[in-house]
Amino acid sequence: MLLLVDLDGVVYRASESVPGVGAALATRVALGDTVVYVTNNAMHYHADYYPRLTGHGAPIGPDGVVTSARASAFYVRDHMPEVRRVLTVGAGGLERELRETGFDVVTAAHAATRMSQEGIDGWTAAGHPDAVVVGLDPQLTYLRIAAAADCVRAGAALIATNRDAIYPTERGFRPGAGSVVAAVEVASRTTARVTIGKPEPHLLEAAAHSVGQDVRRAVMIGDALTDVEAGHAVGARTVLMLTGVTTQQAADALPAAERPTRVASDAAELARVLEDLATG
Ligand SMILES: [Mg+2]
Repeated sequence: MLLLVDLDGVVYRASESVPGVGAALATRVALGDTVVYVTNNAMHYHADYYPRLTGHGAPIGPDGVVTSARASAFYVRDHMPEVRRVLTVGAGGLERELRETGFDVVTAAHAATRMSQEGIDGWTAAGHPDAVVVGLDPQLTYLRIAAAADCVRAGAALIATNRDAIYPTERGFRPGAGSVVAAVEVASRTTARVTIGKPEPHLLEAAAHSVGQDVRRAVMIGDALTDVEAGHAVGARTVLMLTGVTTQQAADALPAAERPTRVASDAAELARVLEDLATG
């Protein structure tokens, strides 16, 4: 089976391992399953997760992590062949994923610096990009929003890595990529052409594609209702883990069509559920 596995709330919570999940996934890999981790987090380069996952005892293979940043790069490459140059609003991982996928990348940080030093508009400062890809930018400034909005108003396609309104940190919730996307949308009076991350289907599709498997045969394992929703969107089976943000009561309250295939409260139950799904 192909297992698409969410990270925060499933494999770990902040820096703490969710007990037993890494080992349960390693057992599935030993039995022949493929694991690809899927996260909406668009800030980090995908391989930067490898040592962290190893530290949690979780199995990691080549192409083992697909973030919404990486999936955005793949989406633009595969669906928007006219795009050569991209402006990024986000952290270093977003820039690197797009660069490595073959795009000519200019950051909003760079464009903003040129705007203020040379007194030029964002479209000129960015060198006329064909697309603007937006993620969580923890260094976001007014001029970076201006640069992105100028480019979109001049005709660049607006792509949202994800629309998570908030982002959990050890110090509580902070604005997520969706808050940054909203700022660029309002300033450019444009709605993003596509959103890549969960609950939309594109991140899961990219993850299955990266290992050459059919996403409809996958099992999506996540702790949020958006994970279940994304799984349904691609026709995959879903396992809702109660190790993160969702309670049993919230799962019970879902209308029948929105329910996960199975619910697991911990790693031991996850192992049993996956055994059932593999044989059933
Ligand atoms: Mg999660």
